[in-house]
Amino acid sequence: MSAPDWDVIVIGAGPAGALAAHQLASYRLRVLLVEKRAFPRWKICGSCLNGVALRALEQAGLGHLVDDLGAASLERIRLGLPGLQVELALPAGRSLSRGRLDLALSEAAVAAGAVLYAQTEATVAGTCPGGREVLLRSGAGLQTTSARVVLVATGLGSPGLAADLPIRMRINPRARIGAGCELDAGVKGYGGGTIHMAIGRHGYVGLVRNEAGALNLAAAFDRPQLIAAGGPAASAADVLAEAGFDPLPQLAAAPWRATPALTRRSTPPAAERLLLLGDAAGYVEPFTGEGMGWALVGALAVVPLVLQGQSEWSRGLERQWARRHALRIGTRQRFCHGLAFALRRPGLSRTLLAAAGRWPAAAAPLLQHLDGATLQRSTPEPCP
Ligand SMILES: Cc1cc2nc3c(=O)[nH]c(=O)nc-3n(C[C@H](O)[C@H](O)[C@H](O)COP(=O)(O)OP(=O)(O)OC[C@H]3O[C@@H](n4cnc5c(N)ncnc54)[C@H](O)[C@@H]3O)c2cc1C
Repeated sequence: MSAPDWDVIVIGAGPAGALAAHQLASYRLRVLLVEKRAFPRWKICGSCLNGVALRALEQAGLGHLVDDLGAASLERIRLGLPGLQVELALPAGRSLSRGRLDLALSEAAVAAGAVLYAQTEATVAGTCPGGREVLLRSGAGLQTTSARVVLVATGLGSPGLAADLPIRMRINPRARIGAGCELDAGVKGYGGGTIHMAIGRHGYVGLVRNEAGALNLAAAFDRPQLIAAGGPAASAADVLAEAGFDPLPQLAAAPWRATPALTRRSTPPAAERLLLLGDAAGYVEPFTGEGMGWALVGALAVVPLVLQGQSEWSRGLERQWARRHALRIGTRQRFCHGLAFALRRPGLSRTLLAAAGRWPAAAAPLLQHLDGATLQRSTPEPCP
C-alpha cells in the first residue's frame, strides 16, 4: 500500500487557496497548490480589502504584502440612490488589484514550501488508502495524484468535484450575476480613496481606483434586466444614471466579464478527506465587499483540521468544519444577505441611507460591523 503523494492538495490559488497553502506549507507539510489559470490574471472583484481581510493577512504574517504592493488607502464610501447621495467615513480599507494580490499570495505559498502547478485543472476523484485522489489536466496531459487531505478553493465556478461526491451546490434562484471591467487611469472623475457605490433598482455598481490609479468596476445585476439591457455595459450605465453618478462613455468599449450566479451554498462543505473553503463553500452578493475577508478567514480556520486529518480522518472533522464555517463565515454571510435584501427595496434603502447621512455617528457601528471589528474580537483563531 503506497502512501498518498502529498499531505495536502489545494485546488485554486485565489485568496482562500493560496493562503491555506501558505499556512500549511509553513507547518512543513508537503503541499501541492493547483491553479488552472496563468498568474497574474485579472478577476472580477471590487478589489477592496476590508478590516477582516487586512487582519487575516496580518495574522498569517503577510500583512506587509499590502504595503509592499502599494495598495491604495480607502477612506470613504459614497453611496448613491435615485435622488440621494451620502458619503460616510470608512473604518479601514485598501484597494489592490487582484492580479497583484493573488500573484503575491501564491508566491508567498511557494516561498513557504508549497509546490505550484499553474495552468493545471484539477478534479477531485474518489478515496484511496489513507487519502483522496485528484485528477490533473494540463494541456493534453492527464495524471492522477493523491493527498491525505484535499482542499477545494475553486471560487464561484464549477467546484471540480466528481459527480458521486455527496456535496450539493444550491444556487439561489434570485441570485444576481456579477460583472466587472477595468478602465485605465486616464478616465476622469471617480477620485481615489473612495468607494463609489451606485445603487439602482436592478443592481449596483462599485467603482474604485486601484494602486495604479486604474478605475476598477465590479457590479451585480438581476439576470432579467441584464439580458433586457443588452449586457453589463448598458446595465452599468443605467445604474450610474439612476444613482445620479457621472456617466462613463468608456463602458461600452470596455472588456467586460461576467460571473455565474452569485448567491450559493455547498452542503455539506466537506466529505471524506475533503474540505471546501472560500466562495466554493458558499457566497452571497458582494455588496459589502467581504468575500476576500471570508476567503482568508476560512483559510486560517481550516488549518487545524487539516493538521488533525494528517494522522487520521474522522467524520467528526467534517462536522467540525461545517460548524466552524457556519459560525465564522455563515453568520456574516446571513447578515450581508439581509442587507442585500433591504437594498432591493427602494423605500427601505432610501430611509436607511438618508438616516445614515443625517446621523453619521449612528451609522458608524454598522460600518464597523461590516468592517468585521466585532467579528474579529469575538472569534480569535486558535493556534494549532
Ligand atoms: C462583483 C464582485 C465584486 C466583489 N468585490 C469584492 C471586494 O471589493 N472585496 C472583497 O473582499 N471581495 C469582493 N468580492 C468577492 C471576492 O472576489 C471573492 O469572494 C474571492 O475572490 C473569493 O476567493 P476564493 O479564493 O474563494 O476564490 P477565487 O478568488 O475565485 O479563486 C479561485 C481560483 O481557483 C481557480 N480554479 C477554479 N477551478 C479550478 C480547478 N478545477 N482547478 C484548478 N484551479 C481552479 C480559479 O482559476 C481561481 O484562480 C467580489 C465579488 C464579485 C463577484
